[in-house]
Amino acid sequence: MGSEKKKEPFSWKQTWQINKRIYRLCSRAKPGFFAGRFAVQVLEVLSPYVTLYCSAQFLNELTAARRREALLWWVLLILGLTAVMGVAGSLLRRLDESANGMKSFWLNWIYGQKALDMDFSKADDARYSDQLVQILQTSNFSGHGIPNFTYQLPRLTGAFFKVLGGIALSASLFTLPVEPRAQGLPMLKVGLVLAVGGILGVLVLSPMLADKSIRAWNAAAEAGRSGNRFFSFYGYQLYAEEKRAMDVRIYRQDLYGQEVDSVNNSWTGDGIFVKLNRGVLGITHGVTQVLSQMMMGFVYLYVCLKAWYGAFGVGSVTQYVGALLSLANGLSELLSIGAEIRGNTVFLKQVLDYLDIPNEMYQGSLTVEKRSDRQYEVEFRDVSFRYPGSEEYALRHVSMKFRVGEKLAVVGQNGSGKTTFIKLLCRLYDPTEGEILLNDIDIRKYDYREYMSVFSVVFQDFQLLDAPLGQNIAASLRYDEDRVLACMEKAGLKEWYQTKAVRGLETRLYQHQDAEEGILVSGGEEQKLAIARSLYRDAAFLVLDEPTAALDPMSEYEVYTRLNDIVEDKTAIYISHRLSSCRFCDEIAVFHQGQVIEKGSHEGLLARGGKYAELWNAQAQYYV
Ligand code: ADP
Repeated sequence: MGSEKKKEPFSWKQTWQINKRIYRLCSRAKPGFFAGRFAVQVLEVLSPYVTLYCSAQFLNELTAARRREALLWWVLLILGLTAVMGVAGSLLRRLDESANGMKSFWLNWIYGQKALDMDFSKADDARYSDQLVQILQTSNFSGHGIPNFTYQLPRLTGAFFKVLGGIALSASLFTLPVEPRAQGLPMLKVGLVLAVGGILGVLVLSPMLADKSIRAWNAAAEAGRSGNRFFSFYGYQLYAEEKRAMDVRIYRQDLYGQEVDSVNNSWTGDGIFVKLNRGVLGITHGVTQVLSQMMMGFVYLYVCLKAWYGAFGVGSVTQYVGALLSLANGLSELLSIGAEIRGNTVFLKQVLDYLDIPNEMYQGSLTVEKRSDRQYEVEFRDVSFRYPGSEEYALRHVSMKFRVGEKLAVVGQNGSGKTTFIKLLCRLYDPTEGEILLNDIDIRKYDYREYMSVFSVVFQDFQLLDAPLGQNIAASLRYDEDRVLACMEKAGLKEWYQTKAVRGLETRLYQHQDAEEGILVSGGEEQKLAIARSLYRDAAFLVLDEPTAALDPMSEYEVYTRLNDIVEDKTAIYISHRLSSCRFCDEIAVFHQGQVIEKGSHEGLLARGGKYAELWNAQAQYYV
């Protein structure tokens, strides 16, 4: 698996490569996003320099030549530039803030697309989905990963320009000569050594301290993740989820949640974050502050000494002090943001590991012939299948041919392989051995999406959307109303539609998104709606996995007696526990421990006295 926990930061080279990929990824998802952020930073960093320079010139003029006209020009220039930069800055910031606010949309889109494009076998595998859960948890909790990257990179650019501006405005400090009488004074040399030494000291020490606190924080983020998981679940999720409301009250799970939370919370008592703030983070912050104050003192000393000995005017003192402090500040930012970026790279790598999960299913390119006569024939040829990572075969040597337009029932005890058989048929998984053919061609050779379009499936755990009725059934904003109504009628929803759907096809299901408009739907109604949805798709194959499990006996009877109407000329496959429903089918396949052990009509199989007859008799005891 790609999600190995890496405690040590990556090398600078790896850091560069990983961050470069993430930059490209973000720029592709949202072109222009970084341009705006960079512009804001650069403007913010450079405008103080402009003011600093102009006011220094103004002060120099004021304390020396005092020419009125020149003074007036400087004042006007300062006012004009400040106004222009202020307006430009706030406009840019506005734009950037709104772009930044929309970030989670394209960020989620990146993850969503990956989840959708992933081989189903992997999307269905907790090890892979957990990778995404971890990424989302870390970024929601501390911003580590892409969110921090979108702040760090612009800040790094800003720091870079801060350094450049600082150099430009302070360079002449070192070259302008003092009066001849003061040349060679040891005091000046000491001042220079202290100022430069102070700046270098801060430069070396503060990133070291920052690095220390970043490591401590990263380690804590790792350790705090489980606490955070507990907190988010027992802190609020448990109480907010509608489906849990009854359980929470009956079993007083709120009290249990409080107990669990008090043991696992990282933010209170002796939690890891409390310790962290008291310890490493507090100390490093204090030391960094003291160091930078000392450096500032030395810089003032040196600049004032040079001014005292006539190298430049009073105005330039503010310019040099400001520029030098800003330069030192920019350099230290450059280094500490660099360290932050390096620390964050561990989390970016997790993102890339997730996005790099390879697809292994063969991607064919053949188009599926669109046949209006629905003459699609599917054959399982000696198919065996093991789930990834499992030793046991879930299907063994299954050979079967679907005759076009027939109704096939698939029966068998729990775990006998019925659902697995359907998953292979729909190419959610590929067979481990053997092959499945559509019109005599291995289904792997077809374009995946096109192949899937031949099937309509009502899975046992189907999900309807929190959306208007018509849109739910058509999976589209625009739909053919008559067809939707006809499909609902076939699924046995005519009466329900007339009495309950108060706004017709615009009636919203469920009440999550709009409590006023939404209507509540029972399990049985949901199941019929799912059947209607599968009919609207009008695919050549209709697969129904336990289609009547949630229906009452009357509705069940109704669905089965009208099966011919529902299915029309489609090839239908039912999975069912209720053998009484199989009587309506042309052929019944009996699964047992992953194999098809019997095949035939209801009467034929009963007469044979095998597994089917055994299951039938067992059920008949309860039904008759
Ligand atoms: P049925 O639909 O007949 O109840 P299934 O096809 O769901 O049976 O399961 C067949 C066998 O495959 C069972 O032994 C089950 O435990 C196993 N199985 C099902 N799904 C998975 C999975 N995702 N990973 C590993 N084994 C699975």
